[in-house]
Amino acid sequence: MRTHQLVLSWIEDQLSAGRLAVGGRLPAERTLAEQLKVSRTSVREAIRILEAMGVLRAGVGSGPDAGTVVISDPTSALGSALRLHVATQHLPVADIVETRVLLESWAAAKAPQDAPELDDAAVLLAAMDAPEGLPARDFLALDVRFHLALANAAGNTVVSAMMGSLREAIQGYAAGLTANLPDWETTASRLRAEHHAILAAVRSGEGGRAAELVAAHIEGFYEEAGLGSAKAG
Ligand SMILES: [Zn+2]
Repeated sequence: MRTHQLVLSWIEDQLSAGRLAVGGRLPAERTLAEQLKVSRTSVREAIRILEAMGVLRAGVGSGPDAGTVVISDPTSALGSALRLHVATQHLPVADIVETRVLLESWAAAKAPQDAPELDDAAVLLAAMDAPEGLPARDFLALDVRFHLALANAAGNTVVSAMMGSLREAIQGYAAGLTANLPDWETTASRLRAEHHAILAAVRSGEGGRAAELVAAHIEGFYEEAGLGSAKAG
């Protein structure tokens, strides 16, 4: 085992055993290096890896706030990992589209009618209805936030984290696809109408219908951009 891996597995053991928890602090670099009989470089390397994974925030300076703190930020770490893998073409857009349909139609079916996140969703739709029309880029940024609010409304933290991690990948492929659309304004007004229909279905307790509408909405945009339905042919 490489020495930084010793440090990684020590930290993982501490977390699993509950000896370290979110908000807790890692021992000082020198202390940890002595305790585990590894170099300070190895300790730093392990901390950098866990920082990138959204598990630690490395301390700066000195005083009571110094030191490396345990955090829990799965979404940003997963998000940047997924974005990079989409960029390297290892995560095909078709698979992201299918995953969205899977997660979002489940969430739309499960979201309680009075979930507070639905109010956030409504505010986002109002912003997208701006009479002067929004540039595609701004529209799509609000669009993805609407979908995240809808997913959050289902109240499943794992689904929310997965959707949050897909955020940048979704925004990236959507922006790429707008270049293929015959007429952005026409598409935008259709998307707006679909969003309102999805939210109305959730609000009125028609979960099954909301699930169908959101699936058709996601696949429709993808197909309109000339990419065919996600694997369905
Ligand atoms: Zn949408």
